[in-house]
Amino acid sequence: MVILGIESTAHTASVGVVDDQARILGMASDMYRPPSGGIHPREAANHHVELLPGLVTKALQDSHVDPAELEAVAFAQGPGLGPCLRAGATVARTLALMWDKPLVPVNHCVAHVEIARVLSGMDDPMLLYASGGNTQVIAYGSGRYRVLGETLDVGIGNFLDKLWIALGGTFPGGPAIEAHAQRGSRLWTLPYSVHGMDVAFSGMLTAALAYRAKGATLEDLAYSVEVTAYSMLTEITERALAHRRRTDVVLGGGVACNARLQGMVRAMTEGRGGRSFAPPRALCVDNGAMIAWTGHLAYSAGRVVAVERSAVEPRQRTDLVATPWRAG
Ligand code: AMP
Ligand code: MG
Repeated sequence: MVILGIESTAHTASVGVVDDQARILGMASDMYRPPSGGIHPREAANHHVELLPGLVTKALQDSHVDPAELEAVAFAQGPGLGPCLRAGATVARTLALMWDKPLVPVNHCVAHVEIARVLSGMDDPMLLYASGGNTQVIAYGSGRYRVLGETLDVGIGNFLDKLWIALGGTFPGGPAIEAHAQRGSRLWTLPYSVHGMDVAFSGMLTAALAYRAKGATLEDLAYSVEVTAYSMLTEITERALAHRRRTDVVLGGGVACNARLQGMVRAMTEGRGGRSFAPPRALCVDNGAMIAWTGHLAYSAGRVVAVERSAVEPRQRTDLVATPWRAG
């Protein structure tokens, strides 16, 4: 059994072809990079419309799979940017109709958990999902994935990107901040905003820019921002583990590729007698393989949607999506 999955929630257009053992047979991705500033949803959507057909062809070619062999076509239904989601959903509907295959809607956040869960071999890990637009601590409980904690303002990645652009850099900011942080050593005190199991980042940007104006180096600022923001994420993840009596954590999202964040979460989980796992970069960032794999799980549990009812849901909440494959 082979399934094709389409991801297009934000800046990444990606198509994955995955079998029922979670083997990734083929994957083709392309990320929209704005010439300056942040992502404009319409421009990112145009990018996806232009590139997705070619990415479908390439992913199928790489996997040596004929469309006739597919069990279904899965797509990311939400959450995400409306125009971007619609671009992917339109391609998915077209393929499902053209090839006469069932259409399977997938929640993007659940897909991050499921790909990390199968790759890690962990049965019931908690997910620290740290990406551009999303920052959440997610765990399974009573038939749903539950959001235990999250950002109260912007996603961690958007915060890093915005900060880096304000400091004169270009998108994406996270990797550039990581490179600079490796050469930083002085810790500037930044707002540490943890509210129970939630976090907030907005005050940190203002404070960092004020230090810059006073002469702080980019290296020291990057170091201070990483240490502060990733400590906040590690703290809320630990609190969620303690409350849910769990030990294991998987990571997902572009920011989860960060070595310092991975190291902090690893130290925290090991200190509690557990472990942590971060998928390889291509499967940690937005990707079609995680949509295909979660589509397979959902389809196996009977989840399909008629084309005329397959509207995208830009604000789809993780905890409102049924996950029948996890029952029992
Ligand atoms: P995603 O939304 O999951 O596709 O991830 C994109 C976000 O991840 C952007 O905000 C990037 O700045 C951020 N990012 C990518 N690589 C890293 C890294 N090594 N460290 C921190 N942030 C990163
Ligand atoms: Mg994502």
